[in-house]
Amino acid sequence: MSELQRPVRVLIHGATGRMGQALLRLASKGADGESVVVAAVSRTPGQRVVDGVPQFAARELNGVPEFDVAIDFSLPQAFDAILASCVARGAALVSGTTGLEPRQLEALQEASARIPVLSAANFSLGVAVLGDLVERAAAALREWDCDIIESHHVHKKDMPSGTALALGESAGQGGANPRYVALRAGDIVGEHAVQFTGLGERIELIHRAGNRDIFARGALHAAARLAGREPGRYQLRDVL
Ligand code: NAD
Repeated sequence: MSELQRPVRVLIHGATGRMGQALLRLASKGADGESVVVAAVSRTPGQRVVDGVPQFAARELNGVPEFDVAIDFSLPQAFDAILASCVARGAALVSGTTGLEPRQLEALQEASARIPVLSAANFSLGVAVLGDLVERAAAALREWDCDIIESHHVHKKDMPSGTALALGESAGQGGANPRYVALRAGDIVGEHAVQFTGLGERIELIHRAGNRDIFARGALHAAARLAGREPGRYQLRDVL
């Protein structure tokens, strides 16, 4: 890992969104103490500067100041531009955007030959542990049904959630063949229940996100640790 000057210079992509706002608030409080936000990019920023952070529209991405790592929590249609910008600048990319198309996942993989990239459907510690538990339960309960029930706020676009699909992969690694149920209601930040049902008994493993800070903290932490690394595809466990 090359020695990078600290604090690490961070660009927030999707800055006016629910996650973007949590990231900016925590970064300004110095929640991680290792990074400084040098640019905030969104589709249509309301002001040029907010709390000392310059704001840019998506079409102005080429003109943003130098940055070491971009944290992207936007939408699939915004993803290609931030990936290209990171490659052009030689900057790292931490992305939490879900619902990416297969061609975008391929592009991410190709980019990892040139820059460090980390894409995760969920940046919370609890969900990382839940994935391990699900894999173990699936391996021990081969004959049982496995269902993943996820609930999110009404504005969430992709369905089932990226986290549900990632938990499904964990279940699959344990030998289960999970089914998915998705609920969109009110302002639920995110709930994932993985249910194993046998004859006359049932196990439920549930994670409830109380607020978005759990994801934002994980992403800020990951960004500070990813910047300056060798190009490659990184997992959360490599940096947390
Ligand atoms: P949101 O709709 O509140 O915000 C989306 C942001 O993207 C806005 O700032 C918007 O201006 C910006 N945007 C839209 N089109 C753009 C474009 N063409 N160019 C640049 N910016 C553009 O969404 P949200 O609730 O903050 O979620 C954002 C993403 O993060 C979603 O994909 C969501 O599923 C995902 N998410 C991931 C995690 C995780 O831990 N990985 C946690 C929560 C949400």
